[in-house]
Amino acid sequence: MPISKFEADLHCHTIASDGELSPEEVVELAHEVGLKALAITDHDTIGSLARAAQKAKQAGLYLLPGIEINTDGEGKEVHILGYGLDENNYYLKQKLQELREKRIDRVKQILHKLRKLGLEISFQQVITVARGDSVGRPHIAQAMVEYGLAPSFKEAFTKYLKIGAPAYVPREKITPVLAINIIRQAGGVAVLAHPGSNISQQEIVQWKKEGLQGIEVSHPDHSPQQTEEYRIIAKKLNLIATGGSDYHGPSIKPEVKLGQWGTGLETIEIIEKAKIK
Ligand SMILES: [Zn+2]
Ligand SMILES: [Zn+2]
Repeated sequence: MPISKFEADLHCHTIASDGELSPEEVVELAHEVGLKALAITDHDTIGSLARAAQKAKQAGLYLLPGIEINTDGEGKEVHILGYGLDENNYYLKQKLQELREKRIDRVKQILHKLRKLGLEISFQQVITVARGDSVGRPHIAQAMVEYGLAPSFKEAFTKYLKIGAPAYVPREKITPVLAINIIRQAGGVAVLAHPGSNISQQEIVQWKKEGLQGIEVSHPDHSPQQTEEYRIIAKKLNLIATGGSDYHGPSIKPEVKLGQWGTGLETIEIIEKAKIK
């Protein structure tokens, strides 16, 4: 692993969602590459934070509690990051439980459709693959490969699981505004993840009115121009500019390394201040 380019990487995943490494392994890696601060942002779960915090304490690394909530914008997926949230907040726990139940329900519906296509995979098999608690389509695809029902992850997705494919089941929609509210109510700071090319400035302005406090500027999906553009937009709209690698592990997008995208330690201070606003 190359030495980190940034002091803080504020976006990565563990086995609690769709990452490959345990919370301890991610923290250890962050320490090894020279990061001073890390945020773990698993999809729809805070299940890895307690273990990561313990390890971070030992390693002398600052761990910012985080989450990434997948939502549905107008015709596109929008991800909202939450930082510094109170993990014991009752409303947060309840909402995350609801999201988890919806995910499980959706997986079961997809498996039912696959079964009708003659592809037999049990829910237990998918859970075994998922290991953590945020089960989803990637785990079904992985299980299909492991049990010989598809030659590759990609083919499982394109042939069966993507939008329009025979085993596709739409997600129950949750809006970006709801995700922002959940994060804010749990005392966290809400940040738009990797806006990339499909989100307009108008939408960002709208979400800011609803409580959005930052934009993820540094991210592997952003071209250098986009990074620059979002830095300017963040400044103009008085939003916090954050950054992170969206690291998922050594074999998922191997070109993406922890600490090669991120931000400076001063961003942590800004986030901590924004929490109490
Ligand atoms: Zn994302
Ligand atoms: Zn992510």
